[in-house]
Amino acid sequence: MRAMVLERLGPIEGKPLQLREIETHKIKKNNDVLVRIEACGVCRSQLHGIEGDWQKYGIPPALPTIPGHEIVGTITQIGPSVKNLKVGQRIGISPLHGSCMHCDYCKTGKEHLCDQAEITGETMLGGYAEYITVSEDFATPIPDSMKSEYAAPLFCAGITAYKAVKASEPTRQKTVGIFGVGGVGHLTVEFAKLEGMRVVGVARNKAHLDVAKKVGADNVIQFTEQNEFLSTLKKEEGLLDSAIVFAPSEKIVDLAINSVKKGGTIVLGVLASIPNFDVFTEKTLRGTLIGSRSDMVDVVRLAKQNDMKIIFKSFPLEQANSVLEDLKYSRIEARAVLTP
Ligand SMILES: [Zn+2]
Ligand SMILES: [Zn+2]
Repeated sequence: MRAMVLERLGPIEGKPLQLREIETHKIKKNNDVLVRIEACGVCRSQLHGIEGDWQKYGIPPALPTIPGHEIVGTITQIGPSVKNLKVGQRIGISPLHGSCMHCDYCKTGKEHLCDQAEITGETMLGGYAEYITVSEDFATPIPDSMKSEYAAPLFCAGITAYKAVKASEPTRQKTVGIFGVGGVGHLTVEFAKLEGMRVVGVARNKAHLDVAKKVGADNVIQFTEQNEFLSTLKKEEGLLDSAIVFAPSEKIVDLAINSVKKGGTIVLGVLASIPNFDVFTEKTLRGTLIGSRSDMVDVVRLAKQNDMKIIFKSFPLEQANSVLEDLKYSRIEARAVLTP
């Protein structure tokens, strides 16, 4: 099969992903399925992994590797004990490729927090390729009416957005600010609207503010400098009830904390250090990471029921390096999807 293989970490401008012809994966466990990949979304975490920003967190754990963890494809083969899936069916694979299934997290529906969780794309099992295997327990069926390229972004951006909105304790009376409106942020606007919240999109980049408007944000405010931003926010909205941050920047985290009312909630969906935090404001800072398998099923169901807008653009698999470079320099409107 063809795959974009990462052998050495380095700046994306140096084209570190190499197109290789490698042996197609084989079914190893009895409940595995083999999937012919039709679409794989391009997530900012791949850029961090490839460029070495996350070596301090042990990502990627080994080289060579195939990145990519937002995958949709068709099952071409099933293992002997697969019960619920069949050849020809389409499924999606999220960053959660497997977990131990017996720890406290796994037994209480929080398997994404399992200490033994296996992450898609941190080994040779990644989506920048023509095939992948996955256990049937970690595959989510895709409705026939949903195109593969449309569905792929749901599997990391979608579930991340959904979980972040849940963590913000949404109610109809609340106003939430979404700080950073790209691939994940535009879906966060939509999930927050489904909860009936008033939504304010915040971004530095004018094109990203347009994306927020296009998917239903009630207001957008451009971020330039903290004091200027806060005075515009207070004039137009008052302080926010909650904030969700997807911009990987300490400055934006600080801005989000200061944009929320006393007692409000700030949800962080990115790795960024937390600057000044005044405990006497009784604010809650909360982290969030993808979601469980049942969250994933909810995300696919909600996207279909509500005919959610997913803004994506497709590129051939071979263009992975240049697509990631475009992402690095904010030239991607929302989500890029690779098709083998
Ligand atoms: Zn991702
Ligand atoms: Zn576990």
